[in-house]
Amino acid sequence: MGAPRSAAPGTAVLRVRDATKSYPGGVVALDHVSLTVEAGELLAILGPSGSGKSTLLNIMGTLDLPTGGTVEVAGQDVAGLSDRRLSVLRGRWLGFVFQHFHLTDGLSAAENVATGLLYAGVPRRRRLPLAHEALGRVGMAHRAGHLPHQLSGGERQRVAIARALVNSPALVLADEPTGALDSANGQAVLDLLTDLNEEGTTIAVITHDRDIAARLPRRIELRDGRIVADTRGAEPRDGRVVAGVPGPAAREGDG
Ligand code: ADP
Repeated sequence: MGAPRSAAPGTAVLRVRDATKSYPGGVVALDHVSLTVEAGELLAILGPSGSGKSTLLNIMGTLDLPTGGTVEVAGQDVAGLSDRRLSVLRGRWLGFVFQHFHLTDGLSAAENVATGLLYAGVPRRRRLPLAHEALGRVGMAHRAGHLPHQLSGGERQRVAIARALVNSPALVLADEPTGALDSANGQAVLDLLTDLNEEGTTIAVITHDRDIAARLPRRIELRDGRIVADTRGAEPRDGRVVAGVPGPAAREGDG
């Protein structure tokens, strides 16, 4: 409890190896997908409607299990964990941001943010101070007492981002985080995510929008349940990262 979640840059915070998800009736939503997210990354998972983004997000977030392959969060294989242990694991290591914010109506911004600590084993008296701190990080300290309906869409998404951050997760999964916002507010949310990444937060953004993806340092593209492009380089089918693969900056000059 209270242990720092931020892993050293380059440490794998999430590994999906050879994951397949098929549904009864023969729909293959994910087809042998492997990817690793390292601490400090900001990446886009991009693809058109029906390409498997939500399925992959659910699997990365341990909200669903693959029918084949494995998922490791912070080095722990999630297969076989009880629902309770999975929610503890999610509460400790992952933060979620949704397109439609999912704030609770009757709770103030600070109380909403504090709900991000419910499964994290943080004592009650520590929750609100941590929530205020997280609101400060997203520029919303001055709205801590406001109810969701008293906030604009962009402000609500900031509160939701604070809730995702409040427990210093190893990875934030953001599902179309700008999808319900006008372009100015969407831009501001994207800028915020970029700033938070620069401060050390690892973030995966799921989007169908190429312009948004183009602004992020790494892009993984899905098509028909398969990864068709990963700007960091392909992974072998068993998901192991090839030793010594340099980061994007180091690769620039490579032939
Ligand atoms: P995206 O998020 O990129 O729009 P999805 O992950 O929602 O894509 O869906 C990928 C494919 O899996 C689609 O063909 C979709 O119809 C199918 N699919 C998703 N969920 C289910 C389900 N519960 N049962 C059957 N097919 C599903």
